[in-house]
Amino acid sequence: MKARDLGVRDGWVCWLCDRPVDPDAPSHSPHAPTVDHVVPRSRGGATRPDNLRLAHRRCNGRRADTLPELRWPEELGALDTSALWTAIARLVRRPGSVETVAVFPSEDRARAGSTWAVDRACAFVGGEWRGWTEPTGVGTHVVRLTVTGAADPGRPKVGDRRIRGRGRRASR
Ligand SMILES: [Zn+2]
Repeated sequence: MKARDLGVRDGWVCWLCDRPVDPDAPSHSPHAPTVDHVVPRSRGGATRPDNLRLAHRRCNGRRADTLPELRWPEELGALDTSALWTAIARLVRRPGSVETVAVFPSEDRARAGSTWAVDRACAFVGGEWRGWTEPTGVGTHVVRLTVTGAADPGRPKVGDRRIRGRGRRASR
């Protein structure tokens, strides 16, 4: 599967940063479309459509063969954030546990942040992801995440052909 095929399938959006990918970017450009393995080949990931995603060259390279690290979009206006993929990996290992992943100045912004975080989690590993907001009592709101029934990211589900949002989005 080539980057161009993945681009058509994934709507020309980078699965790591959630930003558009230009199909015509020169191949040496940091913004060029590349094929990324969700589970890296070095960790046993297959070169199979369900394990492949479209990513910018730079995002793909930064991630290397580790879990992808991800910056929260500035426009969400978070006051403080945790390393999201690290939190996601911990949640997958401990189903039902809860991680606080970000602090926002208002409930509206926290809700938007929760939706975004659940989307990123769903794109990475299937399962029933849930994000919600809670007031801190000092005017800010935190976003918490939890998951049940997540597939171990080291063993992606075979035959799952849904690509984006493989988990159920239940953000509130
Ligand atoms: Zn990207």
